Amino acid sequence: MEQGVLKHRRTTLERAEKFISTIYFTDVNLQGKLYPKKADVKSLTHWAAPNLKDEHLRFEKVVKQKFTPVKVGQQFGPTWATHWFRVDVEVPVEWVGSEVHLRWNSGSEALVYVEGKPRQGLCSEYDRLDYPLSESLQADNRSFTVYIEMACNGMFGAGDNGMIAPPDLNRQFTLSCCEVAVFDRRVYNLIREVELLHDMAKHLPEGSERGYQALYTVNAMINACDVNDPTTFQKCHEISSKFLQQKNGDSQHTTYAMGHAHIDTAWLWPYSETRRKCARSWSCTIRLMEKYPEFTFTCSQAQQLDWLRRDYYDLWCEIKKYAKEGRFIPVGGTWVEMDGLIPGGEACIRQFLLGQNFFAQEFGAPCKEFWLPDTFGYSGQLPQIMRHCGISRFLTQKLSWNLVNKFPHHTFWWEGISGHRVLAHFPPGNDYGMKGKVEELLRSSQNFKDKGRSDKSAFLFGFGDGGNGPSEDMVERLNKMKDIDGLPRVKMSTPDEFFSAVEEEDGGNLCRWTGELYLEMHNGTYTTHARVKKMNRLCEMLLHDVEFVHTVAFIELIAHVYPYGQLPKLWKLLLLNQFHDVLPGSSIGMVYKDAHEHYEEIMTQGNEILAKGFRDVVRKGNFLFPKPGQTKCIIRNNLSFDRTEVIVIETEPSGSGPAKKPAKKRQKRSPQKQAKAQQYNSEGHALYCVNIGSYGYSFLDPVTSIQPAEVQEQDGMYVMKNSLLEAHIDQQGRVVHMYLAGSDRDAVDKEYPANQFVMYDDIPLYWDAWDVMDYHMETRKAVTDVISETEVLDQGPLRVSLKFSLRISDKSRINQQIILDAGSPFLRFNTEVEWYENRRMLKVEFPTSVHAREATYDIQFGHIRRPNHRNTSWDTARFEVCGHKWSDLSEHGFGVAVLNDCKYGHSALDNVLRMSLLRSPKAPDRMADMETHTFSYALMPHAGIRMDPHTLTYALMHHFGTLQEADVNKHAYCLNSPLYTVKIECDLDLPPSTSFFSMSTTQVVLETIKLSQADRGVIVRFYEAHGGTCRATMTTSLRRQITNAVLVDGLELKLKGEEDQVDLTHTENSITFTIKPFQIIAVKLIGF
Ligand SMILES: [Zn+2]
Repeated sequence: MEQGVLKHRRTTLERAEKFISTIYFTDVNLQGKLYPKKADVKSLTHWAAPNLKDEHLRFEKVVKQKFTPVKVGQQFGPTWATHWFRVDVEVPVEWVGSEVHLRWNSGSEALVYVEGKPRQGLCSEYDRLDYPLSESLQADNRSFTVYIEMACNGMFGAGDNGMIAPPDLNRQFTLSCCEVAVFDRRVYNLIREVELLHDMAKHLPEGSERGYQALYTVNAMINACDVNDPTTFQKCHEISSKFLQQKNGDSQHTTYAMGHAHIDTAWLWPYSETRRKCARSWSCTIRLMEKYPEFTFTCSQAQQLDWLRRDYYDLWCEIKKYAKEGRFIPVGGTWVEMDGLIPGGEACIRQFLLGQNFFAQEFGAPCKEFWLPDTFGYSGQLPQIMRHCGISRFLTQKLSWNLVNKFPHHTFWWEGISGHRVLAHFPPGNDYGMKGKVEELLRSSQNFKDKGRSDKSAFLFGFGDGGNGPSEDMVERLNKMKDIDGLPRVKMSTPDEFFSAVEEEDGGNLCRWTGELYLEMHNGTYTTHARVKKMNRLCEMLLHDVEFVHTVAFIELIAHVYPYGQLPKLWKLLLLNQFHDVLPGSSIGMVYKDAHEHYEEIMTQGNEILAKGFRDVVRKGNFLFPKPGQTKCIIRNNLSFDRTEVIVIETEPSGSGPAKKPAKKRQKRSPQKQAKAQQYNSEGHALYCVNIGSYGYSFLDPVTSIQPAEVQEQDGMYVMKNSLLEAHIDQQGRVVHMYLAGSDRDAVDKEYPANQFVMYDDIPLYWDAWDVMDYHMETRKAVTDVISETEVLDQGPLRVSLKFSLRISDKSRINQQIILDAGSPFLRFNTEVEWYENRRMLKVEFPTSVHAREATYDIQFGHIRRPNHRNTSWDTARFEVCGHKWSDLSEHGFGVAVLNDCKYGHSALDNVLRMSLLRSPKAPDRMADMETHTFSYALMPHAGIRMDPHTLTYALMHHFGTLQEADVNKHAYCLNSPLYTVKIECDLDLPPSTSFFSMSTTQVVLETIKLSQADRGVIVRFYEAHGGTCRATMTTSLRRQITNAVLVDGLELKLKGEEDQVDLTHTENSITFTIKPFQIIAVKLIGF
């Protein structure tokens, strides 16, 4: 009889689609035969776990609880609660020989325990509902008992009406399915084949011969298949096999497939839930590994693995077994997948140091690739940081989210601001949670922008965030597609295999991208959750100080205990909070409760260790018997720069001990013998001008030769003046004019005043906490509603200050003090904002008189230039950018810098510098930023001011007015790290002032001083901050001698091959080296 496909592509395609549909015609299609038999479980009992934050409930405890009967259809909750179920199963004897699954749907995530051990995760999203009880049921083994831990949240938390909405805390979850079923593996295999042929027919180009062959074949299969007669299945399989056995040609693109589960360390759920998500996902992975010997899985983030090691030791052992086989592959090298822009340079290195320590210790080797699929931009210094930490390969994805410009490469050399390069790859399928489908494979090869130069790409498959990673369907699909004519070749692979192949075969052909990888999206995350950013900056500074002080103590004292135990613990808390949804401010409120507890712990413990370390230094370890009565006021400088600054010493109300409250009146000042205050401020505290050497301390020894600062009222404005600056402030606190001493060049634009607060509407398209959109710039409104006009607070001679208040709205206001200190090159703005807005954004703007094409921004270990114009779509898309401690606009000979102590969002356009201060998104945290904020920033015009430290006179050098010569970077550090004052009982024979470490130039910053983790050598890390090669010397006054100095990497291992370029030499108290633009150099000092 004549039989043939009607030449109608759409109907034939849809026929195939309906044949395996899970929604339509399931009573007559193939899908409907997947579970031919079903039965109830024998008994189902339940115990509601109490709410134990951060404490992992051990199974042994759970089984001892009283479980009571419950039924399918019942609801369990509320959100974030945990419920345990005991499921007893008696499988009918008629099912002997069949594959039998337990099916469970609680509308949530869950974890199956068998014989006390976690076996496999379940998740209602994506239909991860089956737990296989037996592949072939035995007559004498038909009884099963499993425990199920149900977590009352979904993959994406419990958003109230939408994914990124704040969680609905009272959500109930319905147990809709708990049954046993026969799973027909023959039907399953046929479904996969029909799906594959259908997908090829659908997604190969319409004129493709191969596509029509697939269509004809799948139609023939359906014709041959009687779903009620399994004896027809073999015939169907034979029809598809004939097609699927046709192989590819040699030139086909190769897809390196790797299982993956991108689990956010916290996001729409708290850290504690991530610990469980990891167990659920990775247990699924282990089960797949047992079944599919070629299946590989990549797993990043040491922190998550460390949690699993602590909470689920059985699972951890299984993971280690597969890691040994090279199939469970640790990747990334970092402690967490951190934000790519905001963490400081040293913190980025610590991500690798602590991460690689963990990987090396637990898995025998450090990772070879930096793995950061999902972050909101990539600092231009990351390539060197990777190289510094022994990594030369980088995988990411997020740049495919760019709103305006398509990034031109998928495999390329990424060159950072220092010229260091890494091999970078973006999986061209534009997703790090692939499902192993035909269309994704085709998309990967078609999208791939480096065709001809390279013929390979990576393919990461698996559901992230609690979707339990790769599924059996995915592995089956990819296995079937290994080598089929018409599709890219698929190779189950590893990152090392992929990158090695690219390096060997394609490396020389690839294009290069220099500078940062700017993500044209999510640039509101530089500003959201301001207090998190502030605490991050403070904690980074604090841990830096702790390491410096304890290293000195270790060298100077015979029996000093370096805080080897506490420091990694505190660093890990800080690094954890740098996760790419925590530090950016895009997590739910619960996460910030945890994050601020972590910051609190770092601050409290860090300050304790710091105080103890410094006490030991100044008492020379003689802490048991300090000489009585010799209380000294000591000022410490934790920076690489000599400093002359005004300090405030809190005046004590009476006696000794630290001041609890600021004294209100001058008469109450401390009776202690101390240099006479040079000024008392408006709160009654003593002010002094002091000069402290770099990384050193000094007894209080005021500098008296400094020219005073003064303030006068003049034509309705206040004129603040010191030896370097003159600023004219109006009644709204705006800077109308600003001059460098001896110059009539106004740094401020003629028409628009600086320090102008401005409000914007800030309503994104969807990603509330993440996105500030370009159109917000069209809604600018100046804040001009004055609550209290500018008035004088401090009159000099060391400090002059003004204060004023502005109303933003009925709920929000700004209180600001403008401060000019004697000898200070910048005007400081101490700011307090009471902030209770809805989708509005606060910025402060500085219209300058500078004419420049580009603005410069501080980033990790260097700076980067970005446009001050909107020429191209690439320039336009960078309307909001990330910078660290300063931004700057400079023309030849003159410039203006804005320094800050905790802000990261900046912009420059038409010579106006703007700094983003606060946002007010409502999702996923309804209360984000709704509080009173305090922060400081400063305005610093410069024309190459050079300071002579001996005479304390200043000279203007008009023709060398770069931000480098004006030491903008140094002054930004100083704003961030105030001189620290402490009163300590100490030995008299202590030198009155010391600089433990000093640099021959401010061009090279001694960023870090610490003990090496392995052998107690002293690690000193430098970077070149000006963007030019130079030779620099570090000198130390410490009492032990340097016997050797060795170049090391970020992992504190000896570097080979770079010694010549660096030309490192040493004497007994100094090292000298050559350093290139923005280079990072670490040296281990031996002999100390
Ligand atoms: Zn993520």
